Amino acid sequence: MENYLGCYIALEGPDFYYGIIKKAIEINANCFMFYAGSPQTYKKPPISLLKIKEGLELIKKNNINKNKIVIHASYLINIANCINKNVYESSKIALKNEIKMAKEFQINTIVLHPGCAVGGNKKKSIELLISTLNEILDNDENNIKIALETMAGKGSELGSTFEELKEIINGINKKNNIGVCLDTCHIFDAGYDLNDVNKIIQQFDKIIGLKKLFVIHINDSKNNCGSHKDRHENIGLGKIGFNNIYKIIHHKKLASIPKILETPETKEINYKKEIAMLKTTISQSS
Ligand SMILES: [Zn+2]
Repeated sequence: MENYLGCYIALEGPDFYYGIIKKAIEINANCFMFYAGSPQTYKKPPISLLKIKEGLELIKKNNINKNKIVIHASYLINIANCINKNVYESSKIALKNEIKMAKEFQINTIVLHPGCAVGGNKKKSIELLISTLNEILDNDENNIKIALETMAGKGSELGSTFEELKEIINGINKKNNIGVCLDTCHIFDAGYDLNDVNKIIQQFDKIIGLKKLFVIHINDSKNNCGSHKDRHENIGLGKIGFNNIYKIIHHKKLASIPKILETPETKEINYKKEIAMLKTTISQSS
């Protein structure tokens, strides 16, 4: 079975979508993720500028599996905000717009942060998150899949335990269209000790089910397990360590899931090198 390993790639001019696909091929990423605009805003570049047709042609020519490409929704979206109606309403519009953009790119999976319980009422926030997701998914004809990301548990962030994500998933009507994006740095910071990778994967399988695992974000962590910090580190330079991340990349049950690096790029290290490093090890071990 093909093992999917890639990274985040920026959607930027002049080549936009075409440029992303070109970059993915160049750095040997057989899966990848991008933001359909700046992650810190709701703004999206005009579709006519994005060289989507050229990108799709390149995907076809190179036999890239479109099911392994994912979009990450804007960080600003908080459809669990039951205090500020303006934030809630604009978040809902923004998420619908992300789905519209995904359709343009012919992508079927969107990674979404579950949101924050602003005001501190977790129960009400989770209820609002569930009802909003249902409203959006029930009316979506494009069969979009939402992958709720595991969070580090900063402040009032929702989704920092497998149980809480399961609770949200349980409330969704269209069961096939809801799943999880597991971020290794986030779950480690949330208290899941990746020094025992098998145990954590078993735990996920027992509580949520591996079938629900749509995407994995591969990041090392600058901080200790349980720190609730969320600071990504390059592979092997953080507290999770190379061997534990290597085990995740190699895990047979995770081969078909897109594994996306979101590590910092510096003068010394970039995605091409990190992918090569992990791939070399893959072929050495098999
Ligand atoms: Zn994220």
